[in-house]
Order: sequence, then C-alpha cells, then structure tokens
Amino acid sequence: MADRDLAHAENAPGGFFVDTTCIDCDTCRQVAPATFIAVDGHSAVGAQPVDEAGRQAAARAVVCCPTNSIGSDQAALVRAASAEFPLPIVDDIAYCGFTAASSFGASSYFIHHADGNWLIDAPRWTPQLVQAIERAGGLCGIFLTHRDDVADAARYAQRFGARRVIHARDADAMPGAEQVITGEDEVALAADLVAIPTPGHTAGHCVALHRGTHLFSGDHLWWSRRLGALNASREVCWHSWTEQTAS
Ligand code: SF4
Repeated sequence: MADRDLAHAENAPGGFFVDTTCIDCDTCRQVAPATFIAVDGHSAVGAQPVDEAGRQAAARAVVCCPTNSIGSDQAALVRAASAEFPLPIVDDIAYCGFTAASSFGASSYFIHHADGNWLIDAPRWTPQLVQAIERAGGLCGIFLTHRDDVADAARYAQRFGARRVIHARDADAMPGAEQVITGEDEVALAADLVAIPTPGHTAGHCVALHRGTHLFSGDHLWWSRRLGALNASREVCWHSWTEQTAS
C-alpha cells in the first residue's frame, strides 16, 4: 500500500498520489495519462482527476501499478476497478492489468479463444484476476514473448493446467515450460494465433500474431506516445540490435 508520508513532492495536491517506491515503469502513465506524468525518474500525479471517467482511469492505474506505489482516497472506485480486469480492449482481447514488479510492469493480455483461452505474457498472481479468468473459461496456453515478462506464469499455468510456450533461447527463464520453440520459423499456437521469432531485444524474443490483425509485440516494438509512432530502442536491447532491426 502506498504511503502518504513517502509521497513525492511533485504530486498535485489531492486524493491520488505516487510515493517513492515507484520504479518508473510507465504503466500508470499509459493507463491514466491525464493524471500521471513522468518527473525525473519516477511518476507523479500531474493533475488530479476532475470527473468520474478520470477518477476511474486513475483507480485502474492503482490496480495496475506493480509496486503499489499509488495511493488514493477512492477505495470504492479502486475495488470496482480491480473487478474490471481483464479489461476488454478490442474484440476478444483484454488487458490483464495487475502488472508484476519482476517484469517491470510489463503488460499482459488475455485472449478469449474458441479453442481455449490464452495469456500473452503473464501478470502478477492476483486472486481477483484468477477468479475472473476462471469465470471466462480458464486458460489453455500462456505464450511468453521473452524472458523478461514471465512474471507469475508458472502459478497461472499450474492453476489452470495451461501450457507455457517460450523460445529455446529464453527458456532458462521459464523452467518446465511445456512447449519450447526453436529456430526462426513461425509456429502455430492455435487457430489464428501464431508465434513469430523476432530475436534481438533478447535472443529468444518472439511476437504473437492473432487473427492476422493484432500483433503482441512484447519488447520488439512499442507505441511511443512522444513520437506518435511505433518505436524500438537500442538502449533497452539486451541481446543484439543488429538482430532486432533485422527481425
Ligand atoms: S505504475 Fe507504479 S511503479 Fe509504474 S510508473 Fe506508475 S507509480 Fe511508478
């Protein structure tokens, strides 16, 4: 739980605040960009939400924060927000929220699939999310884009009997994975769900293409709010920038 005594001085006065345990993962700034801003290596409340939609978005950020670094005076809204996840994004795809500190707040997604549901990367283990996934029909697979984003995949796999899929070159990060991809050819995971090796960010990085329209790009590419375009970064390329740009 965030501690008001540790709140950053840059927070705008009001109910929401960020404390000094923030790891600057950017999640809150993605989830509630009207409220949270980046300040010198951490987040802060740039402007308190002024309407219900803004307060709901900020409450979702509280739920999503991997380090419980966001405090608020909106307990009921935060409880309601925690029940929203997986949060529908488009068609059969939802955002899991509940990010993990071990994956530095990485996003994970739930695909409601006719042949069995999938996680793309894993969230932190959270009873509310487990129950929501159970109500949605459980999981048959967990596709891990790369070594950094496994979070609590093992617990979710065990709970739902789901098979974990990861590339061999990152597989040491997910001991016991039920399916290990090798080489650089595409691999069909399920109907309309394909794993595509994209080495570079890590040696075993892969992306997943769903229905030929939605690409789960892991850390191979991401949307830059600053540039208003897809971007990648040499600074956070852990394996080979040459391979990343080639793939
Ligand atoms: S989600 Fe939490 S850890 Fe991440 S930037 Fe926001 S306050 Fe910091």
